[in-house]
Amino acid sequence: MTRFTDLGLSQPVLQALDMKGYDTPTPIQAQAIPPVLEGRDLMGIAQTGTGKTAAFMLPSIDNLREADNQTPFKSCRMLVLAPTRELAGQIAQSAKDYGAMAGLKVQSIVGGTSVNKDRNKLHRGTDILVATPGRLLDLIDQKAFTLDKVEILVLDEADQMLDLGFIHALRRISQLVPEDRQTLFFSATMPKQIQELVGKYCRNPVKVSVTPESTTAERIDQYLFMVQQDEKQTLLEMILKERHEVPGKFERVLIFARTKHGCDRIVKKLGQAGVPANAIHGNKSQPQRERALDEFKRAKTPILVATDVAARGIDIPGVSHVLNYELPNVPEQYVHRIGRTARAGRDGVAIAFCAEDERDYLKDIRKKTDAEFERLPLPDNFRAVVEGVGPTKREQKPRLAKPKVRPAGGAAKKPKPKQKHTARKGKPEGADQGRPQGAKPGGNRSRSRNRNRSHAARG
Ligand code: AMP
Repeated sequence: MTRFTDLGLSQPVLQALDMKGYDTPTPIQAQAIPPVLEGRDLMGIAQTGTGKTAAFMLPSIDNLREADNQTPFKSCRMLVLAPTRELAGQIAQSAKDYGAMAGLKVQSIVGGTSVNKDRNKLHRGTDILVATPGRLLDLIDQKAFTLDKVEILVLDEADQMLDLGFIHALRRISQLVPEDRQTLFFSATMPKQIQELVGKYCRNPVKVSVTPESTTAERIDQYLFMVQQDEKQTLLEMILKERHEVPGKFERVLIFARTKHGCDRIVKKLGQAGVPANAIHGNKSQPQRERALDEFKRAKTPILVATDVAARGIDIPGVSHVLNYELPNVPEQYVHRIGRTARAGRDGVAIAFCAEDERDYLKDIRKKTDAEFERLPLPDNFRAVVEGVGPTKREQKPRLAKPKVRPAGGAAKKPKPKQKHTARKGKPEGADQGRPQGAKPGGNRSRSRNRNRSHAARG
């Protein structure tokens, strides 16, 4: 088995890994570290949870050490672009952890915080900068920062950046970084638009892939309720309070909804039903998101309702159940969502609520991901509760701490058909993200670089 010591990393980086207690590289780390150390460009297909941050950060720290350039004034030597504040924060923390012994300065800048503070903190420059694209361009436009000295450029979760409308920002940034640089490009999916971006950004990249696209993890048991859109909230409350029909012990339940407004509505109604939950989405302030995540991690409020955009890229350990309150219209998104559970060798449960008008999404998910769903029956008293003749919500007590594990299986009852049409409302989060102005299409690439640095020669 490959160990970190076999990969050619320097002592300070190995020491930092030792302090974190990591000795065995994950597959993406084993594949990516050697070529990145050699200065090659890289295209990695990998999701959060695979260890991709260390895959690009560890060899880059060594490359920065080896090049030994000065920390540039109002610029940086390594630029990591990430789609969300949470991901940027996590990457910056990893850079600090992994670079603890390397003496490199790490900063991060994200939207939703004071621009003035960012300007001040970047005035003296930094070795590693982790940024969201919009805030970075703000500072560049204010002449507070330049990208002239970038030696290594990392694009993390590139597909998510495109989903968020950052394409123009990325094109602009690509024109501001030096031609002679190393580019490390990561994306969970590789649609055509991303492949084009890779072609623009990278030069003869080494390709590494750790999760076959569109395959759902084997350790995740997937269940399905067929339920009308306007009855989903009732079903959700019955599941969370009565543990109806749902296998597995509830530790932390991550619920996905399509819109920010939808998340808020679910949380509000859960609260009214006596089930505390938090929401994270793009309209929440940074402190609100941090608090929600912290309470979720500590299992103080173990129910979190999120949009795809907010949840993407966040490493949350111990998610026992992922609940798709609404099905995503892109099958890959389903894979991302349920991949939030069954981390670190544990099993996980994914539950999908599918309404009549989501059947096509379900068909697509089944076809493209080979997902196998076990259909679960609605609770016996479901109709009575929906029609208001069942036990009142006050009579049902939340039982989050006492799971009733029910083995999978049993014949599924069909839900009673209801004719009412339930159209989906609201824009998915990310659909309305502003695009930075003044974008120009990407320019020619005629870089000349000498990339055959031998890492073995490092001291
Ligand atoms: P990432 O995919 O980069 O977000 O990493 C997912 C999680 O795995 C993070 O909590 C990392 O700290 C952790 N991790 C990364 N590499 C390793 C490793 N080689 N051994 C154990 N844990 C790791």
